[in-house]
Amino acid sequence: MITLEAEKLSFSYNGKTMALKDVSFRVKEKRIGIVGQNGSGKTTLLSIFMGFLKPESGKVTLNGVVPYRERGEILKAFAPSFEKGRLPYRMKVRDLVSLVGEITGESKEVVSLAQDLGVQSFYDKRVYELSSGQEQLLWIFNALSDPGRIPVLDEPFVHLDIHAYRRVVKVLKERFDSYILTSHVPEDVELLTESVIVLEKGEVRWYGKIPELEGAYEVFVASTEKVDIPNVVADFGNVLVCDCDLGLLESLMRRGAIRGYKKAGVRLLYAKIRD
Ligand code: ADP
Repeated sequence: MITLEAEKLSFSYNGKTMALKDVSFRVKEKRIGIVGQNGSGKTTLLSIFMGFLKPESGKVTLNGVVPYRERGEILKAFAPSFEKGRLPYRMKVRDLVSLVGEITGESKEVVSLAQDLGVQSFYDKRVYELSSGQEQLLWIFNALSDPGRIPVLDEPFVHLDIHAYRRVVKVLKERFDSYILTSHVPEDVELLTESVIVLEKGEVRWYGKIPELEGAYEVFVASTEKVDIPNVVADFGNVLVCDCDLGLLESLMRRGAIRGYKKAGVRLLYAKIRD
């Protein structure tokens, strides 16, 4: 179980950009998501929880530990994926995977993880030769490779293609019952976590167990088509959030006017943010 606590936490870069403003929450869960648009403060919040940044004001604890005071304790228990600049850039990926196996003492498991993630498809490349998607996959592999530490993944899917995305999701679902991840995509956190913190412009807009909200639906439409749907709460282009009747949605589905629908969850919280 992971317990993330923040009380009146604020942080600014260079005393100018307020990245987090008076943030308070308490979330206790095995799989936690932090969701918010670009620039909403997700990376800053994770960096504070990993002890890389010190809060300007307020209090923060992770499993009862004050991260910036005991970063060593935090990094013994958690494996963040966003320690950029620490990968050995000249090393071949194959040798890096072997090295990780040696360090963790779990060579077989580490190789099987690399295979399941698809890392073996670029074994012969050196780290500096990788595409951004391949490098991201290597970061994810690195964060997932130590069975003794809980992975902390910052926007793990941004550079991944759909196949790599599917492999990472499968590995997370099948092999890990505990992690923290951030994403700007509400459906990612719904798929992979049970509790969520919703950030908007450095403030917490909502936190708690991911809800499945009765009566509110996300409707998937072809962005080029005009569909007459009542009570639209928010328009995300190809996804509309509506407060509408299930019977109507089913008839629109039968007519092929919409592509699908689901009960609204985190996306509705997003929608409320915009109102
Ligand atoms: P997110 O991860 O949600 O995209 P960040 O935590 O990276 O958001 O950024 C929050 C805010 O802080 C943004 O306005 C961003 O421009 C600013 N910021 C982030 N890192 C720095 C930095 N090193 N120096 C100055 N401003 C920064």
